[in-house]
Amino acid sequence: MTAKILDGKKMSAEIREAIKEKVVLLKEKGIVPGLAVILVGDNPASKVYVGQKEKGCLEAGFASFLHRLPETTSQEELLALIDKLNADKTVHGILVQLPLPRQIDPDTVLAAIRPEKDVDGFHPVNIGRLVAGLPASEPCTPKGILRLLKSTGIPLAGKEAVVIGRSNIVGKPVALMLLAESATVTICHSKTADLAEHARRADILVAAIGKPRFVTADMVKEGAVVIDVGINRLEEGLVGDVDYEPVAEKASWITPVPGGVGPMTIAMLLENTLEQAEKTGASGR
Ligand code: NAD
Repeated sequence: MTAKILDGKKMSAEIREAIKEKVVLLKEKGIVPGLAVILVGDNPASKVYVGQKEKGCLEAGFASFLHRLPETTSQEELLALIDKLNADKTVHGILVQLPLPRQIDPDTVLAAIRPEKDVDGFHPVNIGRLVAGLPASEPCTPKGILRLLKSTGIPLAGKEAVVIGRSNIVGKPVALMLLAESATVTICHSKTADLAEHARRADILVAAIGKPRFVTADMVKEGAVVIDVGINRLEEGLVGDVDYEPVAEKASWITPVPGGVGPMTIAMLLENTLEQAEKTGASGR
């Protein structure tokens, strides 16, 4: 079998186009979706991500409020800015770019964002709602993965889903979302024994590890849907967590890197912000 490509770049462009049209209608009602992004320090990768988010906002017709703070910013200063943004009616979404400098505790900072404005879906309230199966602001990368999976038309209920990676950003939430779709979910991680054995049972295999070409063809069942979340920067360029060519020979669907999961993340961020703007309108509350 040769896999069909799950084209995240194309799907992201379509979603962003639809968002743009909704923004035009919202603006007629006097509402401009606003996203505040906070970048602390000079992490080069963070700068790139923040730049992409700002560009995405502007293209969609959103108001983008970028706050660049120095590496030496104290936790109190950052919390004071979040308080201000929490109360700002023109801001519908607040995103703090991670990682943060050592003097700042990310958990304290993320918990300070009003849950409704937590468009990244990292606030404990939103995570708790996700666990409980209640409507929540869903984390962007997992939300994008589910959107890609659903686009295949393959029912997820009853499928064996194996997620490799248990981070709070990708592995755990994507596992919860697959569970909510009634898949039978296994989470593998760095301490898992016989990981390949688990992976080979998967109808849906999600790799979120951060190790180039970790998932090899012998770990993949014929006809599986393979989602590669990994972004590994090698000299040869960007490489995923999946050994792409040999795995694509066995899978039914596969996401490329780049152009798979990555572009969906920003589309979901814009969608979360738009939804919040639609809910609260110009009041921002
Ligand atoms: P992380 O480092 O927080 O977590 C990695 C997970 O992989 C851990 O849970 C760990 O248990 C597991 N792991 C590590 N080594 C392992 C091994 N040998 N065997 C089995 N499991 C192992 O990373 P993360 O934030 O979840 O990100 C994972 C990858 O996804 C990274 O490459 C990251 O750049 C990428 N990512 C992409 C997007 C996107 O938008 N496409 C978003 C977030 C993360």
